[in-house]
Amino acid sequence: MRAEIISVGTELLLGQIVDTNAVFLSRELANLGIDLYHRTTVGDNPERLRQALEAALGRAELVITSGGLGPTADDLTKEIVAEALGLDLILDRPSLERMEAYFRQLGRRMTENNYKQALIPVGGKALPNPHGTAPGVAVRWKERLVICLPGPPHELEPMFRTYVLPMLQQEKSGVIFSRVLKISGRGESAVAEELADLLAAQSNPTVAPLASPGEVKLRLTARADSTAAAEKLIAGLEAQIRERLGSSIFGVDDETMEEVVVRLLANRGETLAVAESCTGGLLAGRLTEVPGASAVFERGVVTYSNRSKVELLGIPEEVLTACGAVSPEVARLMAAGVKEKAGTDWGIGITGIAGPGGGTVEKPVGLVYVGLEGPEISLVKKLHFPGTRSAVRRRTVQTALDLLRLELLTKQSLSGRQK
Ligand code: AMP
Ligand code: MG
Repeated sequence: MRAEIISVGTELLLGQIVDTNAVFLSRELANLGIDLYHRTTVGDNPERLRQALEAALGRAELVITSGGLGPTADDLTKEIVAEALGLDLILDRPSLERMEAYFRQLGRRMTENNYKQALIPVGGKALPNPHGTAPGVAVRWKERLVICLPGPPHELEPMFRTYVLPMLQQEKSGVIFSRVLKISGRGESAVAEELADLLAAQSNPTVAPLASPGEVKLRLTARADSTAAAEKLIAGLEAQIRERLGSSIFGVDDETMEEVVVRLLANRGETLAVAESCTGGLLAGRLTEVPGASAVFERGVVTYSNRSKVELLGIPEEVLTACGAVSPEVARLMAAGVKEKAGTDWGIGITGIAGPGGGTVEKPVGLVYVGLEGPEISLVKKLHFPGTRSAVRRRTVQTALDLLRLELLTKQSLSGRQK
């Protein structure tokens, strides 16, 4: 079954409101396994709405409209649907009674123009609206199903769940199920190259790479008769991808890098302290967004000035003078200093030039050193990021977290082997 959505409302075209109804309906259709190939937005204009409806009826078996069921003259969806299908509108008594009861309950008088909301196309079914006045409508016509829903999301969503979903569940064939794998440390093209044969051969599940700054996502989508069967299809492909990308895959679905790091630390019963210069507390901020971070995160200090690096981390002034604040030596001493002061298992130190000013030939904007001190390791990573100040800071934090994550994973597999 193919579906189309038509969002009706001039305010949508003017950008005054966001079309959340189309997003909601798209998601619900995907969950049902119903293909959606087109979404149209059209203003409160009879001629253009008629054209949009005719195009949709020519391409799809299911057409869902949102909006334009109100009492005012610019609300025309039902009228145009009836016209396009060649059906008359008749009064639906139960809808009128529900509407009268709705107004009584609110203690408001029902006005004349509300009556038109109780009209539905002949042969159609009214969908009750407990959250507003306009009933929805479902009409079958020439092996097509046309459904008109009210615009306000708090009316449309419950109406869809209560009346439309059960109707569609009877007609649908199968489910669509997706899983997102999140990858760090590799660009989109490197990932695509590694998976070239899988990307070329894909059919069910499909694989779609999506790049955003600092991470690549792979969306695996399977279609099957049941969720369990779709999950099984995805598990097979995921295993193949994991074999190739290994620990570059840091998370699944909505999982964030900081959640993964907090979980890995908690599993080991280990703790972390961080000292930040150019990221100014962003790393500590990300870590403390994770519920339960207090079990593993001891402290974060923002040591922006040289003086604070001396006073709070015990870094010798001579090192700062000789090497400069942005140097591998200082990154290492920041990590070691905060770890020592906090008495934690791990310490991270970050120092760099976020820009846009302050760069030199030897130390350009975007140059960052991340120091990591752990129970058995001490390392410094030199990074160089392109982009704005904000991008440099965000990518630095992501990379610092990833550095710790990879060390924690290595330790995990080492201790696993020793057992
Ligand atoms: P309407 O039934 O077209 O008069 O819409 C009534 C109200 O519902 C609008 O003023 C919006 O606040 C809301 N609305 C209409 N269409 C949408 C949509 N596609 N997405 C989100 N909200 C909408
Ligand atoms: Mg409207």
